[in-house]
Amino acid sequence: MSEAKKAAKKKPEWKPAKWRNRCAWCTKIIKPNDPAFAISISLRPEAFQEFAPGSVQPLLLFSAGKTVAMMIVTEDSPAKKAGKDAMFQLCSKECAQKLQVALQQELG
Ligand SMILES: [Zn+2]
Repeated sequence: MSEAKKAAKKKPEWKPAKWRNRCAWCTKIIKPNDPAFAISISLRPEAFQEFAPGSVQPLLLFSAGKTVAMMIVTEDSPAKKAGKDAMFQLCSKECAQKLQVALQQELG
């Protein structure tokens, strides 16, 4: 069993469905008519192959001390064609900037 699967077993409180309409940074619910912001990233292939396309995965940001919801893009999505593997949805520009900084600290 992989480390990721062990971690997932230990943390049953991670519910992907509840993150589908929430800000990855502040967890505020994003309503359909609200302007949404998104950040997309590329992952190392070995990190990416664990995740099912279209799934929502927890990403622990040690430097920020929080877990954010990372959405794995599907094979036929525009993001994937642009070379991205995952994206985060945000409620505001402020949240997008904070996540961007945390991601840079975490992923380099
Ligand atoms: Zn937010």
